[in-house]
Amino acid sequence: MSKIVFFNIPAHGHTNPTLGVVRELTARGHQVWYWSYEVMRQKIEAAGAHFVPCDSYDAELRLTPRQAAQIGKDLALSTRVLVDTTLSLDEAVCREMERLQPDCIVADSMAVWGKAVARKLNIPFVSSTTTFAFNQHSAKVMRRSAGELLRMVLSMPRVNGEIKRLQRAGYPVKSVLDILQNDDDTHTVVYTSPEFQPCSDTFSDRYAFVGPSVRPAETEVVKTGEKLIYISMGTVNNDMLPLYRRCIAALRETPWQVILSVGSAVSPEQFGELPENVAVYPSVDQIAVLEQADVFLTHCGMNSVSEALWFGVPLVMLPQTAEQSGVAQRVAQLGAGVKLEKTDPASIRAALARVLHHPSYAGNAAAIGEGFHRCGGAKAAADKILQVCRA
Ligand code: UDP
Repeated sequence: MSKIVFFNIPAHGHTNPTLGVVRELTARGHQVWYWSYEVMRQKIEAAGAHFVPCDSYDAELRLTPRQAAQIGKDLALSTRVLVDTTLSLDEAVCREMERLQPDCIVADSMAVWGKAVARKLNIPFVSSTTTFAFNQHSAKVMRRSAGELLRMVLSMPRVNGEIKRLQRAGYPVKSVLDILQNDDDTHTVVYTSPEFQPCSDTFSDRYAFVGPSVRPAETEVVKTGEKLIYISMGTVNNDMLPLYRRCIAALRETPWQVILSVGSAVSPEQFGELPENVAVYPSVDQIAVLEQADVFLTHCGMNSVSEALWFGVPLVMLPQTAEQSGVAQRVAQLGAGVKLEKTDPASIRAALARVLHHPSYAGNAAAIGEGFHRCGGAKAAADKILQVCRA
């Protein structure tokens, strides 16, 4: 039986797709250690892994709220957080990996400390990529706006300074691309289908496109309106009270049922009395809601988009980060949704109505969803990891 160590960052979107894989590995009798954060402990342990907390090492948890809101948007700040966390975890991770002698390390593509220690100690390694895999070809399809490119170029001196800190600590990292870009030599599990991944044929045979692993619904959602509209901006940058208020204003006099998940930074009381057709929650069983929904207004986190398409739900898209813009771009290319260009109530209502009234959006969403269902899912990801253990 193999000993496998997972490393991840404190993000539900990066953790959820791996849980089915952990369940699959432990069900087959393998032992899994999962280095993550207290907020994830319960679900990681429920999946059958030994949980190892990293909270005291994490640089992101020490940011001011203002800085935290910039994570994923400001490349230099994001790199600094990754480098700080890697360096503060370095000693404990190296010591533990030398003691445990795992057969394989599986690290999220953002948990660079996992790849770094695997390289340092020569342990077989699998990258776990919960967004699209990124190489020079897919980068072209996921076009960045001129503003984003300019911001990236301007931040490069600061980014390079951060990379030098890693190099000084003995990490074999040449540039930030070594961290951000997937390379053909690294065994990589990607949680999407080859059809949804842009340019999937340009990646080497070390890549396994296993499709999203969507957990079963835990509750049942009752549909009370003619159509069910679901709105969520995810679990990270979701402090968006003015947007939620505009959504409610847009939808209050419609025959549509609206479920709004607002996260923990906004309290449902801040909305005052709600129209009868609108329900606001800090968090919902998103899978149960999507099983019933007719359209999803989303920030385009990869998981939210994958879960929606899994059930054939078309999208109205309001991406907040470059990564989410890339996902939105791909959905728009494949005709499974529209981007929300303006966020005044009339524009929100018009975009939702357009997607609800033109069946091609739901049809294209269903076609992508069928592709997901054809993939091997958590079983294929577990097979890939075990192959690397044995290699
Ligand atoms: N999610 C949930 N309930 C909610 C909002 C989100 O269960 O009310 C889950 C959702 O199903 C998805 C994850 O949280 O698996 C969000 O991941 P995503 O990649 O979409 O966005 P992020 O939160 O990382 O920005």
